[in-house]
Amino acid sequence: MNYDVINPATEQLVESIEMNDEDCANAAIERAAAVYPRWRAVSHADRARLLRRFAERVDAEVENLAALEVREAGHTISNARGEAQNVRDVLHYFAGAIERHLGDQIPVDGGIDITFHEPLGVVGIIVPWNFPMPIAGWGFAPALAAGNTVVLKPAELTPLTAIRLAALAHEAGIPPDVFQVLPGKGSIVGQAFVDHPKIAKIVFTGSSAVGKQIMAGAANTMKRITLELGGKSANIIFDDADLERAAATAPYGVFDNAGQDCCARSRLLVQRSVMDKFMTLLEPAVQGVKVGAPGYESTEMGPLISAQQRKRVASFLDDSVDIAFTGTIPAGAGYWFKPTVVLAKTAQDRVMTEEIFGPVVTVFPFDDEAEAIALANDSIYGLSGSIWTENIGRGLRVARGVEAGALSLNSHSAVRYNTPFGGFKQSGIGRELGPHALASFTETKNLFIATS
Ligand code: NAD
Repeated sequence: MNYDVINPATEQLVESIEMNDEDCANAAIERAAAVYPRWRAVSHADRARLLRRFAERVDAEVENLAALEVREAGHTISNARGEAQNVRDVLHYFAGAIERHLGDQIPVDGGIDITFHEPLGVVGIIVPWNFPMPIAGWGFAPALAAGNTVVLKPAELTPLTAIRLAALAHEAGIPPDVFQVLPGKGSIVGQAFVDHPKIAKIVFTGSSAVGKQIMAGAANTMKRITLELGGKSANIIFDDADLERAAATAPYGVFDNAGQDCCARSRLLVQRSVMDKFMTLLEPAVQGVKVGAPGYESTEMGPLISAQQRKRVASFLDDSVDIAFTGTIPAGAGYWFKPTVVLAKTAQDRVMTEEIFGPVVTVFPFDDEAEAIALANDSIYGLSGSIWTENIGRGLRVARGVEAGALSLNSHSAVRYNTPFGGFKQSGIGRELGPHALASFTETKNLFIATS
């Protein structure tokens, strides 16, 4: 069976890709299991060298990979370039990390006690369509560095960059079957990863609904899991904030990637005393977002990924929703959606509680610090968020009070490869990236050596 990859900015066919069926997926997992002993036996220094060579191949192809991402996902060219460079950087980071992944020597009576970090086996990585390249890299780079083999399923809508990355890995000298990319349906190839007893771990990024199914399925064979799921993150603006900067940057904290970002600051909580002033500053900032053909260097926001996603996002804006103002979109083909600012009536409105995954931000007032924290935490999610205040003590108090895994103070910090990323509550389980990520791709083995 084939799947037609459509350019979301033009609605034209990009390429038709053959999908793997269950038998193909199972055969690929068996091959990955067969090659695992060979890959884990490659010395740390040689594995690091191969990953660095892979990173250099990616670096040499940044423009090509970025152009693919513009075509298949509608990402702006500047974002897409940064995403390819992120894969390069993540590979370099974990190539460096694996030779410094130290074990312990623990004082004990009667001998010496040491720990080892052993690889897990075959890791199955399931990737969504919103950031196809970086999310793939956050899984495969540490997994391969730690000595695991990898099977990776890209999202149906966006398989092209992952396919190219696998080819670059092989060109760099990573042996066949160590890193395989298997385009296919979630319910077939993804499910095969979850069911197969030789998959030791699933790294899943996607919706909370599918994440829950994966967690339940993984229990059958006690697979390790890392889940990166949805979000409804708060951008909290206090009355002592630099309001000009907070308003100028708020659109980019939520409308980047057309809001199809699990970290999108899609709830804008504003202290009541500065609400009018903030909204006056926000309106021109939203209207200034440059929405258009994603291949142009100056474009800041592209289209939504599909007609279905546009319908889903639009379904949140029924007659009951109070739209404050919007930005503009181009005419003609493409799954465009205006950057939209809505006002919630209560904290329980659907636009306050559900992840929209489109360029819609909901504004809601608060009176004091305690209420700001309570509102931010009034969510099943806890992924990201921003806090704007010139009072550093308040900034730190609020940051410690907000139940979320990746916060920024006076910025909308993007995910960094060298710091941990992941969610509280139903935003996920585990952390990717940063100095501790290798721990989730290894098991700790303890060895006691008697000396008497
Ligand atoms: P999705 O859950 O529908 O799909 C994600 C991936 O899972 C796809 O590759 C899909 O084919 C696969 N899949 C679907 N059903 C499956 C099954 N039964 N078994 C195994 N695999 C299956 O999500 P999506 O629509 O592709 O992505 C959007 C969602 O992802 C949003 O909710 C967003 O918040 C979330 N997301 C979270 C993060 C994060 O890091 N927390 C990052 C990106 C996206």
